Amino acid sequence: MVLSKHSDFDFRVEEEQYRRARSKMVQSLEKAGVRDTRVLAAMNAIPRHLLVAEALRHKAYSDVALPIGSGQTISAPHIVALMSERLCLEGHEAVLEIGTGSGYQCAILSKLAERVVSIERVPSLANDARRALDRFGVINAVVFLGDGTVGRPKDGPYDAILVTAAGPKVPRSLLLQLKIGGRLIGPFGLSDSQVLLEVHRTSPSDWTQKELGDCKFVELIGDEGWST
Ligand code: SAM
Repeated sequence: MVLSKHSDFDFRVEEEQYRRARSKMVQSLEKAGVRDTRVLAAMNAIPRHLLVAEALRHKAYSDVALPIGSGQTISAPHIVALMSERLCLEGHEAVLEIGTGSGYQCAILSKLAERVVSIERVPSLANDARRALDRFGVINAVVFLGDGTVGRPKDGPYDAILVTAAGPKVPRSLLLQLKIGGRLIGPFGLSDSQVLLEVHRTSPSDWTQKELGDCKFVELIGDEGWST
């Protein structure tokens, strides 16, 4: 398709506005205490506005969760940054994400780890996320459709597991798919309020747990989550 000079120009002005808004968002995250420069760089690189409906794009770089359809949300930037930072990724890790949603967190993780396996239970979201990841040129992440509460042992064990929907308790299957020395971050508790937990696997049969603070996520639905 050949763009007229006018529409080509408009497109670039629009992109520049989003780029500036994104960079302001990253500065705010830094001010709020996010220190990992790799996380900040990843958040500066991924165009969050392309993952929400056009009517919501003006809010894409505000620190809010936004609807993505099917009753689900793209998490707020500060929570994405916090969870990514707490995983302490260096670039050589295998990461499992539960709850692909829009693909935003998955795209961020793809810049921080060697490979990412992400699982989503809603078919339309999984398809849209795959398309978005392709569009962003992500080649080290794969999205599977299914119940993430049982994980994906076939591709594990994992150095890190990120759960982006809230379950009543940490799924045992996920604990068992963590490498010794690996960590899992996710929200657990009641369906309308949860605590963000950081779990470390310290031996084949031992895990330690730390509370990172209160949070509110959509429900983790599945065999080891809430029932439908
Ligand atoms: N990480 C996402 C992003 O960056 O857009 C946000 C995730 S949204 C807060 C939670 C997602 O978890 C929803 O898309 C929901 O459909 C999904 N989900 C809920 N239960 C699930 C399960 N058992 N397995 C996989 N995905 C699940």
